[in-house]
Amino acid sequence: MKREFDILIIGGGVVGCAIARELSKYRVNALLVEKECDVAMGISGRNSGVVHAGFYMKPGSLKAELNIKGHRMMPKLCEELDVPYQRVGKLVVAKNEQEVECLYKLKEAGDENGTKNLRIIDKEEIKKLEPNVEGIKALHSPTSAILDPFIFTIALAENALRNGIRILLDTEVLGIEENGSFTVKTTKGEFKSDFVVNSAGLFSDRISEMVGISKYKIYPCRGEYHILDKNKRDLINGMIYPVPPREFGGLGVHLTPTTDDNIFIGPSAEYIGEVDNVANTAEIMERLFKEAKELLPKISKRDLIRSFAGIRPKLIKANSKEPGDFVIEESPDVRGFINLIGIESPGLTAAPAIAEKVVEIIKKKMKLKINQKFKPKRKAPVRFSKLSDREKSELIRKNPNYGEIVCRCETVTKQEIIDALKNPLGARSIYGVRKRSKATCGRCQGGFCIPKIVKIMEELFQPPIDDITLKGEGSQLFIGKTKDLRR
Ligand SMILES: Cc1cc2nc3c(=O)[nH]c(=O)nc-3n(C[C@H](O)[C@H](O)[C@H](O)COP(=O)(O)OP(=O)(O)OC[C@H]3O[C@@H](n4cnc5c(N)ncnc54)[C@H](O)[C@@H]3O)c2cc1C
Repeated sequence: MKREFDILIIGGGVVGCAIARELSKYRVNALLVEKECDVAMGISGRNSGVVHAGFYMKPGSLKAELNIKGHRMMPKLCEELDVPYQRVGKLVVAKNEQEVECLYKLKEAGDENGTKNLRIIDKEEIKKLEPNVEGIKALHSPTSAILDPFIFTIALAENALRNGIRILLDTEVLGIEENGSFTVKTTKGEFKSDFVVNSAGLFSDRISEMVGISKYKIYPCRGEYHILDKNKRDLINGMIYPVPPREFGGLGVHLTPTTDDNIFIGPSAEYIGEVDNVANTAEIMERLFKEAKELLPKISKRDLIRSFAGIRPKLIKANSKEPGDFVIEESPDVRGFINLIGIESPGLTAAPAIAEKVVEIIKKKMKLKINQKFKPKRKAPVRFSKLSDREKSELIRKNPNYGEIVCRCETVTKQEIIDALKNPLGARSIYGVRKRSKATCGRCQGGFCIPKIVKIMEELFQPPIDDITLKGEGSQLFIGKTKDLRR
């Protein structure tokens, strides 16, 4: 395998994958390494999936600039990559007079940043837009949108791969030596590269330290969520947010529809000790539900199907007076080392703009020739449940695997599981199938379909039983036999 590259990207989150895809527009010899068994296993797979319109960000900040730019780029990019993107709009709702002032401040910031069509609306108009929501005034942002953050990251990676970028999963960076160029030591051996892009999310301060830059520290801030069953999707039309809390933790507990018709309730915002502690806690889950019910009284606990948590890579401590900004720079001390640190929200929205910025930095140091063969489009695999009855019958006639339902909750067929397992990145865990096909995402959470998915894996690849994992090494599904049927 090739071991020398012009550019090595560390991290297969949305930012690393967006950079890889942006670089693939040029004739470069680049490698992306990701320590997990798939892309989008870090923060990029654990967020609200909102394409922010830009009114939360402090005017003049890099966050504001890249948020606005990323928001503008997103519709075309999602179309090219065949990624679900819906402009559902957002209401930031004031529940009492004291909160109203904050709506005007948000609008002012949005107007200054360049957010389009923001309006303050009254109680009657809130009821017209969102009959089930309670509030006395709201900020309406019609251009706020949602996308599927997993599929978006996967699509960026697949398109980068197709256009010539190498991607290695299960490859952890252990150390970096700098001697004019870089020698990057990984669990899959050493790689040499002229540039290193540190896009390691929650671990970016540790990667930075590997080249002797120790001035950055990530403060992990956890956000917990509930997921509401699909049968409650009709309760809201767009996103419903509260007025943000004064502390710069998060944006407040909100209700966000997903492109798969669930609703997320959350996230909370608690500073924690470990960057990888994505546990949910009883106390926070109770609070989330209570706060969500104040905005949307019609929800009940029976509608909750799952919980999850994501962790913000904050560069500021708890109770800081300033919100903190993205750091995106070639280190002045280590030439060729490009640091991306503190890429918290709106990092998903900003990812395409961040990628352009990183490529601009590289262009100043290295001549990048256009890749004339660059193909911007990617075709997503079929989503059977989204087709009309006629289209479904036609598909089943051509390929009987579409006639076999594997996941009953989400109506996912055998062929979709096969497509998910034969993905271009070569990712093969249950999570990989889950993210791509949405099997296991419904009410039973895989109780019925995981054994069937395992069977399809065995049919396709005959993997040793120990190789079948939920999400990579350390999460083996089978630990031994309960009985041997041959006896
Ligand atoms: C609760 C929450 C809600 C959010 N909601 C939104 C939202 O609605 N809209 C929005 O725009 N933004 C949102 N964000 C922010 C957004 O999700 C992040 O900014 C974005 O996903 C960051 O992407 P990333 O690629 O930098 O990080 P990651 O996705 O974490 O990617 C970094 C990758 O680096 C890998 N890595 C780390 N160390 C190594 C190593 N040594 N070797 C190899 N690989 C390594 C990790 O495994 C990981 O996959 C939210 C964030 C959180 C936590």
